[in-house]
Amino acid sequence: MLNLVLFGPPGAGKGTQAERLIEKYHLVHLSTGDILRSEIKAKTDLGLRAGSMMDRGELVPDEVVVEMIHARLEKSGDVPGFIFDGFPRTVSQAEVLDKMLSELGLKIDLMLSLEVERQELVSRLLLRGKISGRNDDQDVSIIENRIAVYHKQTAPIIQYYAAQGKYTPIQGMGSIDEIFERLTTSICSL
Ligand code: AMP
Repeated sequence: MLNLVLFGPPGAGKGTQAERLIEKYHLVHLSTGDILRSEIKAKTDLGLRAGSMMDRGELVPDEVVVEMIHARLEKSGDVPGFIFDGFPRTVSQAEVLDKMLSELGLKIDLMLSLEVERQELVSRLLLRGKISGRNDDQDVSIIENRIAVYHKQTAPIIQYYAAQGKYTPIQGMGSIDEIFERLTTSICSL
């Protein structure tokens, strides 16, 4: 079993690298952002409530994302492992995740943190906004807010995993292949 937290600010390349990691290690991908966007598309109550917060670049409440992850962990059955992408995003989510996993006899093995310069994040997100049409990638002030929210609410998680000896910084600048190579090297050294 291999359970990874793929961490980093918006635009760090978590989704892109998650796809490659899943292909190589056959992990189950749990992306709270993807799940929320599918709720919005399906026009569920949850999607309607979360949509406006996401459009402003704010986090949705912890209980909402925790419940989404809990439901998927419970029904996952026998799998080679999980890759958590965009979750946890607060220290409280990280604590609950540890609790939920330990109830299933599982644990996080590694927290891989993609480190990317601020200007590069903004240009990657604006480019993605043009291609994907994602509302929260279209506007520089919303992008700036998401980066600010990351520093205030999400970055403290680094200390949480560092205290467990699981925090692994990964240089997130360079080609997709180079970054993937760095990630797999860290996983191999587990
Ligand atoms: P992402 O696709 O991971 O960039 O997430 C897009 C948006 O979904 C974020 O800006 C938040 O509004 C919301 N979101 C995704 N994951 C979480 C989470 N773990 N906690 C709170 N909000 C989240």
